[in-house]
Amino acid sequence: MPDGQLNLEELLADLGFDSPGAHQAALALLREEGLVSSRPKTFISRDKKPRVREMLQSRFLAHCADAECSRLGRERARSSGLAPVLAGRRAACQICQGANNRRAFARARQACVEHGITQWLIVGGSPNLRSDLAAYLAEAPELRIDVDEGRSGDSKSDRARARRVQAIAILSRSEINHKHTAVYTGEFKEKVILIPARGLEALFEGMERHARGAR
Ligand SMILES: [Zn+2]
Repeated sequence: MPDGQLNLEELLADLGFDSPGAHQAALALLREEGLVSSRPKTFISRDKKPRVREMLQSRFLAHCADAECSRLGRERARSSGLAPVLAGRRAACQICQGANNRRAFARARQACVEHGITQWLIVGGSPNLRSDLAAYLAEAPELRIDVDEGRSGDSKSDRARARRVQAIAILSRSEINHKHTAVYTGEFKEKVILIPARGLEALFEGMERHARGAR
């Protein structure tokens, strides 16, 4: 490969345009916008990669073949005026990026925003779960989520936190002790959902269900 060049087909595949239909659609757009000449072309300058990505993401939404991702992908594409395209590799899917957690998060986020349940308190969970959760939340500024690691032991400040949020999710298989969660499950039981399984997927599913069921 020439210096400073990328294989155009590989670049498009990397960005999720790896099925024949998606590839053609992407190429047509890049030609129309003058990023790629109309002659058959194998390479593209490496410098153009960010512009190519930006251009494609401003027009298309790539989703994998999974039924849930197809449904969510088409829905999100429609609401944001994008054209949905089918990605061959799951990792290129803009909904799940190959991970069920990510898809569950996308669904929870959508449900919470649609139903106006955006202020949450999450209680418990392992340090790993909390750091993964923080990474998801960083992408979703519309969700205001407070996390109770179960350390404070100050029921007055716990109550104040509980009052500030619309819903409380307690990860019930975590190491957090029962006495601590009793503050929430007593006085605030209307707001509380219990997440019986470990892991983020279960948490996000619980949040989605609660948001959809609320009012
Ligand atoms: Zn997917």
